[in-house]
Amino acid sequence: KQAQQDLEVAYEKLEEASLTDPLTGLNNRRFLNQSIVADIAIVERIYHDWLKTKTGHGLKLAVPNEQDLMFMLLDIDFFKSVNDVYGHSAGDKLLEQLSHLLKSTLRESDYLVRWGGEEFLIVVRYSTRSEVPELAERIRQKVEQFEFDLGNGQKITKTCSIGMAAYPFYVTQPTAMTWEQVIDTADRALYLAKHRGRNCWVNVVAANVNDIELVNPAVSDSLISLAAAGVITIESSKII
Ligand code: GH3
Ligand code: MG
Ligand code: MG
Repeated sequence: KQAQQDLEVAYEKLEEASLTDPLTGLNNRRFLNQSIVADIAIVERIYHDWLKTKTGHGLKLAVPNEQDLMFMLLDIDFFKSVNDVYGHSAGDKLLEQLSHLLKSTLRESDYLVRWGGEEFLIVVRYSTRSEVPELAERIRQKVEQFEFDLGNGQKITKTCSIGMAAYPFYVTQPTAMTWEQVIDTADRALYLAKHRGRNCWVNVVAANVNDIELVNPAVSDSLISLAAAGVITIESSKII
């Protein structure tokens, strides 16, 4: 019986390790793939119910509140120079400290995933899409103001860029875009944030019109031309 218990504990530890990034202790992509499925199912059900009620009674019910999944991609600006100037282990230290900083800024229920080398995915759960830019701005400022301790008395500041998009992307067509496509859209937004000079956030929002042709911003030529066509609006902390 003891051996059986030991085996179960060992298995649990292994399972946890397989969902965790070893450097930062954050969750990894595998965790997201496993966890997001249930979130998506709930959000879809809520939006479908809302749509049914809305059309069934001819009522204009308010859009569901605190039921959005906001996907935010955060990338450190000019991170490579940290490695180049202070060394790779100093870069690692910065990533660990940034992870703590982000964690302390988010709610327990949000997902924080190490998405790639110096790129983080935040999923703001139970959110209201219009309120999330405020959080992005808070994160941007916190990162900008934080003093990273790289050891040997070396302290530096860094900035980050953030791209984001909400799921469901089109509230009246909740399943028109998959969550993977919404992440790709957030990635396009991140690219735009870099292009705008970094240290800013960009939010890609579906335009609030009924009869538009649904497009996937992640695969279209440019966000700017989509915005010009009135399919999306681009919100940003940096107006250019
Ligand atoms: P940008 O503002 O355009 O994002 O510039 P950047 O320098 O941050 O971007 P780039 O993609 O050129 O460089 C990312 C660097 O991150 C390159 C890679 O060596 C480094 N990196 C990736 N993972 C790790 C890691 O785990 N530890 C350390 N120390 N460095 C890492
Ligand atoms: Mg970077
Ligand atoms: Mg990067």
